[in-house]
Amino acid sequence: MSGISVALRVRPLNSREQGTTAAARCLTVDEAGSSLQYTGRDPPPNANFSFDRVLGEASTQADTFEGLKDTVASVLEGFNATVLAYGQTGSGKTHTLLGDVSSPTERGVVPRAVAELAQGMARYPECRFKVTLSVIEIYNERIKDLLDPAKDNLQVIQDPVRGITVAEATELPVAGERDCVELMQLGIANRAVSATAMNAGSSRSHCVIYVVVEKAHADGRVEFGKLCLVDLAGSERQDKTGAVGQTATEGNLINKSLSALGNVVNALTDPKGGKHIPYRDSKLTRVLQDSLGGTARTVLIICCSPSLFNDAETLSSLRFGVRAKGI
Ligand code: ADP
Ligand code: MG
Repeated sequence: MSGISVALRVRPLNSREQGTTAAARCLTVDEAGSSLQYTGRDPPPNANFSFDRVLGEASTQADTFEGLKDTVASVLEGFNATVLAYGQTGSGKTHTLLGDVSSPTERGVVPRAVAELAQGMARYPECRFKVTLSVIEIYNERIKDLLDPAKDNLQVIQDPVRGITVAEATELPVAGERDCVELMQLGIANRAVSATAMNAGSSRSHCVIYVVVEKAHADGRVEFGKLCLVDLAGSERQDKTGAVGQTATEGNLINKSLSALGNVVNALTDPKGGKHIPYRDSKLTRVLQDSLGGTARTVLIICCSPSLFNDAETLSSLRFGVRAKGI
């Protein structure tokens, strides 16, 4: 059995797509269930896809978080948990994870998770908690500290007590959601962006937000739980973005990290089990080594566009999600 659950979220058509030929859809979502049909070009023989959850175009940020509550809460029990947002640029990854961090309705998974943890701590009045937040970016296979951009090329180490850790990454205490919002705004401002033909604000990097919970019991025992929230780089193919030169190199390295993630997920979900898990093949999988597989809970959110113009990328994302379910 794998600890990976796969949710699919479809963003609404945007204003550029509405009223044009791009408004034709490549997906038909069964609103009542957890399946959908691919109605784009070049459909595969079986165009029906099912996931653990399907969040249609009308889904809210609250709907999306609802399915993540148990995963988030497990961190208070000393488990590691990971939420990954996968999809092409513009498919809603950052919207889903961060959203408008200061809006009660539009805030995404990260601020909601911090609030959920803060609330959950009340269930353990005999324990003392310390929660810290770190934000790193993996860009060209280098790890940069987004809470202190002067710190570049950080190393991943195995700490005997805390497990896989990014050495020297800034860890700031978060007492509640207010602190989290401020830190996220700082981290976002420091994120590297590079304009591509596809989306001027496109991010070519992976961003990992860590929430580490230290739980001290009355008898002196200390447990650590770690929540990793990962805004992956765009999954689109390099040739479609028209990138050349430096950006093309970035794309190759990003694809290396994404394909390494796919390989790790496939090895974890292989029904035969007992496979070597190639965590060391990229910085991204190394950073997630003790947060994917084992006792860690993982939710993969596949973000996709419903527009016929994005059908090939949407189909490719559906397939990535299906493979992650281990069928
Ligand atoms: P990505 O991070 O995958 O590149 P974004 O999250 O930046 O994509 O989304 C692209 C645009 O679409 C943004 O303007 C975002 O606000 C909007 N968007 C994405 N998902 C939704 C959604 N579920 N509801 C409303 N707007 C959305
Ligand atoms: Mg984004």
